[in-house]
Amino acid sequence: MTIGYNTIDVQIDLDAIRHNYRVLCEKGSNVYGVVKADAYGHGLLEVARALEEEGANTFAVGAVDEALTLRKSGCDNRIISLLGPLNEADCFNASQFNIIPFIGEFEQLDMLSRVVSAQGKKVDICLKFDTGMSRLGFSIDEIEKLLLWLKANPQINPVLASSHLATSDDPAYEDYVSAQAEVFSSILEKVRSAGYTVEASLANSAGILVHDKVHYDAQRGGVALYGVNPLLGTKWSSLGDRFKPAMQVSTKIAAVRDLKKGQAISYGCTCHAERDMKVAIVCAGYADGYSRHLSNTGQVCINGRRAQILGRVCMQLCIVDVTDIPDVHFSDRAYLLGGEGEGKISPDDLAGWWGTITYEVFCLLGFNPKMFK
Ligand SMILES: *Cc1c(COP(=O)(O)O)cnc(C)c1O
Repeated sequence: MTIGYNTIDVQIDLDAIRHNYRVLCEKGSNVYGVVKADAYGHGLLEVARALEEEGANTFAVGAVDEALTLRKSGCDNRIISLLGPLNEADCFNASQFNIIPFIGEFEQLDMLSRVVSAQGKKVDICLKFDTGMSRLGFSIDEIEKLLLWLKANPQINPVLASSHLATSDDPAYEDYVSAQAEVFSSILEKVRSAGYTVEASLANSAGILVHDKVHYDAQRGGVALYGVNPLLGTKWSSLGDRFKPAMQVSTKIAAVRDLKKGQAISYGCTCHAERDMKVAIVCAGYADGYSRHLSNTGQVCINGRRAQILGRVCMQLCIVDVTDIPDVHFSDRAYLLGGEGEGKISPDDLAGWWGTITYEVFCLLGFNPKMFK
């Protein structure tokens, strides 16, 4: 596939994703596959199909349009839109295509009710509550008003209830998780006493692995599906050490050349050869989602070994030190993520050099053309 700007190849290992789903299911009781943002850059339709074969019956996507893409691909499973409707077309599509939208605002309820009534339909929704993220969702103070609204609008049918944890991966914030769970439980009690038999979910990947008390009826597994241990570097690390990375990103070497000691490298002359060196010019830059933050700090994997980025990352190129790596030639492969042998690059390695989290690395590199195996 060569539709990108460059020669970047993103290889997705669907078997690794299946394995990761099975591992999550050992801990969780009813794990939704979170496949928002093109399955964290791993390919929405392909990942959903693989998870479906592993028995996943519910998918959580981002916007309603993304849900629609999944539905129209032939997916018959339950599909949840985490973002919920933002306009009338979203409302129409949610009911027309049996997509369960997250709803956390009265404006959304009013709009949905208007559209669905005009269609002469009924729509299932997921009630979204804010228990500590201060982002989306009804607050516990709005419950009475919400229940009154729902009684008056029977065409809007809550079947799910959810909230999102802010700190499930951080041992220093265990109390915050408990506090969120307490608020969520008391919200659930009110919703259920009003006669709505909602399926409740609170946990994300880290919540599934660490906090049994936040499992409720279902869990929403995201980043662990893509091979990341969300607990790495904490005292809980061993709880998440069985996930296998599924994304490998590689590109071509455009040139191999010798530099004399003292020669300046790349824009701004931020790096000078500290000895006579051999460098490889690698076809990856920020136009490919390979961040300029990696300048002078990132590494790539060539012939199973690590090669340090020298100087600034350019739009479509970067320069790496291959002085000590034998047999590096024009048109050889360089791995930005993954690779073979000791030099293999993990998502956490790359995110660390990049100054971000694995989620962002996946989403940005995942914009490049993908191949599946
Ligand atoms: C992305 C997301 C998840 C998954 O979180 P991970 O940390 O990737 O497991 C779960 N719930 C909601 C609402 C999300 O937006």
